[in-house]
This record gives sequence, structure tokens and C-alpha cells, in this order.
Amino acid sequence: MSQVFNFSAGPAMMPQAVLAQAQQELLNWEALQTSVMEVSHRGKNFMALAERSIQQIRELLAIPDNYQVLFAQGGARGQFAAIPLNLLGENGKALYLNSGYWSAAAAKEARLFGKIDEVTITAEKDGVVGVEKLDFSEIAAQYDYVHYCPNETISGVEIFDVPNVGDAVLVADMSSNILSRPIDVSKFGMIYAGAQKNMGPSGIVILIVRDDLIGKARSATPSIWNYQILRDNDSMFNTPPTFAWYLCSLVFQWLLDNGGLSAMESRNRAKAEKLYAYLDQSGFYRNTVAVANRSLMNVTFTTENDDLNAKFVAAATKCGLQALKGHRIVGGMRASIYNAMPIEGVEALIAFMQQFAQENQ
Ligand SMILES: *Cc1c(COP(=O)(O)O)cnc(C)c1O
Repeated sequence: MSQVFNFSAGPAMMPQAVLAQAQQELLNWEALQTSVMEVSHRGKNFMALAERSIQQIRELLAIPDNYQVLFAQGGARGQFAAIPLNLLGENGKALYLNSGYWSAAAAKEARLFGKIDEVTITAEKDGVVGVEKLDFSEIAAQYDYVHYCPNETISGVEIFDVPNVGDAVLVADMSSNILSRPIDVSKFGMIYAGAQKNMGPSGIVILIVRDDLIGKARSATPSIWNYQILRDNDSMFNTPPTFAWYLCSLVFQWLLDNGGLSAMESRNRAKAEKLYAYLDQSGFYRNTVAVANRSLMNVTFTTENDDLNAKFVAAATKCGLQALKGHRIVGGMRASIYNAMPIEGVEALIAFMQQFAQENQ
């Protein structure tokens, strides 16, 4: 079989080495003669795995001691509700920065629970979308928190500078760019990310929460999403998705073994730069994101028309380049090139794009 590359936006490809390890120890994990998914989450082995996973992600992101790492269910969308329940006072209000689909979806859900102000931070000039405004230091103090999404998975808009909110609490949905490069965690009150883009399989969401933000939840907050209850129960108030947690831990170890997040950033930049450089000089494909906001993770592009796009996706699939169809709300194509995508995948994609352009000029 010739090599297949999976460009899915999520659930996305996992590192081959991680899948191979999971396969190899599936029937006999840690010499227990059972799989990891068949043991108690409160048993010695799983508790050790949970502890280890937290140490691994702490090391990867250099998470300061005054932050908790929590594992929850319900995905990032669950957190769209849990965040206002935990962080908005009974009469509180929050500011949501709108940079695209996911940040808007977070604001819409938060509105079910409190007063939300929303400000669009992108602007379109000559068909190119860029982020215009990131300084909210003048107005942020009146809000319980400011929420934003540093990587809009659908449009491929990434925000590399951290918004300035003065001393206010900044909350970030990093579902599609967590662990793709080093970040300064201390600039955030809370970071959260669904696992299925850049960490592991779906079914688990990781929360990194500053200590002083825990313990403020409204009384009506569901217990499984109450950060204090999650913390006090080592993220095991209800039974966690143990297999997903295990796979995340293998991915963390894979990242540590491969040079950590600085090495990942170099690899990710090299992949993205190669692809954008080809796109820009192709004269056939277009990317409509301002250069400063082009995502390192989700590269969106289109040809002149929808029929040609459909032809491209079908032909690419036949050549082993999978899941390149853009999200239905924006159309076109999208190549998601998370940590697990090797440079060879990007090179194969570019070779295919060149050939397709020649044949369909
Ligand atoms: C995929 C995604 C989500 C939704 O995640 P679920 O786990 O399906 O709830 C939210 N935010 C961003 C940025 C995403 O990429």
C-alpha cells in the first residue's frame, strides 16, 4: 500500500509511533495481563498514569505551580457552558473576542448564562481576512474574563500575539493549536483544549486553570464541570475516559522524546511555510488569510470555483491525500497539519497540487 496522509481537522491523525505503542501494549498493559481500558481508574497503575500525564504536560508547557491541570468530558463545547458557570459571578459579565466560527460559538453558548459583550476583531480587506485589534486593556477591567480563540480551525486564522487585557482574566480556547509551539501560560487565567486535534482521540478536554479562579462556580453548576470538584477529585469525580487519557499521555511523552514544543514549533513552521510559499506562487490556488494570521495548523485554500475544488478533493483522495475538503461553512480545501503530520505529508500534498494545477490550468 502506498503511503496515505490524513489531513483531517479533527479527530485528526495521531503520531504513528503512539499508535504502534498502543497496539503493542493493548492486550497487556504494564504487565497486568489486561488492557489499560479494563482497569479501575482508582487503581495504582491508572492513578500513576494520570499523575504522569500531568507532569508531562506541565513540563511541555512550563505550567507555573499556581495552575491546575484538569481533565474533563464534554469537549470544548462543554466548556463553552462550563466557563461562564465557573467564572462569571451571579451578575457577572464577560467579553468575547470574535475572530471566526469557534469564538462566536463560544459567545453564543455563554449568553445562556450571563451578560456577554462581543467584539469582532477581524477585518476583511481586498478579500483577505486579518486580525485588527488585540489591545483591550482600556475596557477589560469591567469584565470577569475575556475569552478568545487563538486558532480558528475552520478559516485557518491564527492569532500569534496574546491579547492585552491588562490585569483582567484571559481565557483561551486552544483546541486546535495547543502544544504546537511554546506559550507563556502565565498570561492566561485559563486555557482549554479538546484533545482530538493536537493531543489524542476525542472524548477528553484539558483545562489549565489558575488557582484563584477555582472555587467561584455558581451553585447550579453541574458537578462534573465544577472546577473545584474536578480539582478536589483529581479529575475523577465521574469515571474519566481512561483510554483517551492514556493516549494523550503517550502523545505527551512522544512530544518530550522529540524535543518538546520548541522543536515542534520549528517543524510546524517549516511545514506551514513550505505550503504557503507554494500556494502564493502557484497562480492557481488562493489563501485568503493575512500573512500575519496564517495558521500553522489549518491551511485553507481554494481554486477559482467549487466544481474544481470538488474535483481536487476527489482526485487527492485517490492519491492517498485524505480529508482535504474544507469545512462546509467556508467551502474550498483545508489541510490540517498538526504536530503528527510529517513534512513528507506536506511535500506529497504540494507535489499533488502542482500536478493538479498543470492538468487543470
Ligand atoms: C474542534 C473545536 C471545538 C469543538 O470541540 P468539541 O470537542 O467538538 O466540543 C472548539 N473550539 C475549537 C477551536 C475547535 O477547533
